[in-house]
Amino acid sequence: MTLVEQVQAAGVVGAGGAGFPTHIKLQGRCEAVIANGAECEPLLHKDSCLLEHQAPQIVDGLKRTMEAVRASRGWIALKRKHAAIVEAVRAAVRGTDIGVHLLGDYYPAGDEFVLVHEVTGRLIPAGGIPLQVGCVVQNVETLVNISNAASGLPVTKKVLTIAGAVRDPTTLVVPLGTSIRDCVIAAGNPTVADPVLLVGGVMMGELSTCLDSPVTKTTAGVVILSADHPIAKRRGLTAASMRAIGRSACDQCRYCTEYCPRYLLGYGVEPHQVMRGLGFSMVGEPSWSTWAGLCCACGLCTLYACPEGLFPKEACDDARAELKRNGWKPDGDVPIAPHPMHSGRRVPAQGLLRRLHLQEFDHPAPLKHDRVQPARVVLRRKQGAGVAAVPIVGTGAEVSSGALVAEPPPGQLGARLHAPIAGTIASIDAESIVIQHHL
Ligand code: SF4
Ligand code: SF4
Repeated sequence: MTLVEQVQAAGVVGAGGAGFPTHIKLQGRCEAVIANGAECEPLLHKDSCLLEHQAPQIVDGLKRTMEAVRASRGWIALKRKHAAIVEAVRAAVRGTDIGVHLLGDYYPAGDEFVLVHEVTGRLIPAGGIPLQVGCVVQNVETLVNISNAASGLPVTKKVLTIAGAVRDPTTLVVPLGTSIRDCVIAAGNPTVADPVLLVGGVMMGELSTCLDSPVTKTTAGVVILSADHPIAKRRGLTAASMRAIGRSACDQCRYCTEYCPRYLLGYGVEPHQVMRGLGFSMVGEPSWSTWAGLCCACGLCTLYACPEGLFPKEACDDARAELKRNGWKPDGDVPIAPHPMHSGRRVPAQGLLRRLHLQEFDHPAPLKHDRVQPARVVLRRKQGAGVAAVPIVGTGAEVSSGALVAEPPPGQLGARLHAPIAGTIASIDAESIVIQHHL
């Protein structure tokens, strides 16, 4: 079997972002592969934990990826501030064609456009992908999964950090489909009476109060906050309120644009123009602005830059959705030139933590294996880009741990699913496959 076939069979998807099926990325040809260990979401530590404890396996996954895409160069990008981890990674790459690229402690260092420019000096064309400038970027956890796939091991576990208002912030390795509730219990339970969850992180994650949601292949972590924390309150406003406040209160100061990492790299992203567009749209009508088209939803404009506490990121989300509905495509031939201040205007991670009122939660979250062994898992049939996987087992079937339980229809984009625990298929519906372990 080729690596592409092994990775497809193992159901590997990008563990750090939208969950794009990894076997597709391995079919390109490029010069360099970059392992993304930048991990800039405040309070999340799962990538640093992996770099600390599994650097040799990350290097193995990177070497295999380089071979598959015929790359002559590999890089592991991580933050300079993790001195001990940098040493572990340097030891793991000794004698290979892999370099270590040290990043400053700023947000968002892990955005692919920012990372590719930082490591190679190249700028991905507007609306393009790293392959167009000779690069493939893989999250470090994805590389561990590629290494496992080469040994015939499917993706059945997820590494995630549970942080914020919990007694024992922890990075856990759990079976896919474990409930967030079980993960939060393993992190010592919330320290607040009215917890809300930011699933995926404070900057780019989703606000939720549902502790019963299952962990998927892309859940990087959960930050727990009290419902009256300033970030929870801001994120909890309705879209209509955000739009109404923005329409009346934006003074067009441009701070949101001046801090935007995509604008600073030279792309046509100007959130203040998107905010201006709110004022030109009828109330309740969709707002349309191509100035949002290349926004990466990093959240800096809303949660750091805007002195009025407005919601330019959310205005960009709405505008981008509208652009997508209308089939808008950016012009990839427009020349891109970074702003002269682009590196001087990076947002320091510590400054961001202060702005987010999160300093009190800034603790390590050490890696713990096997702390959570659920008796029941809820396996989402769609855990990344593409279509939902179709079950190949029926209700009542007995499955062993690692057994194939669902796969995408032939010829369609998606990823296979394997049983994270041994047990009986308790139920199947349009969204999930539930497996119950025998006690
Ligand atoms: S920073 Fe805030 S007030 Fe200034 S232009 Fe942007 S949204 Fe408007
Ligand atoms: S969320 Fe805001 S700061 Fe981030 S890329 Fe989009 S417009 Fe720029």
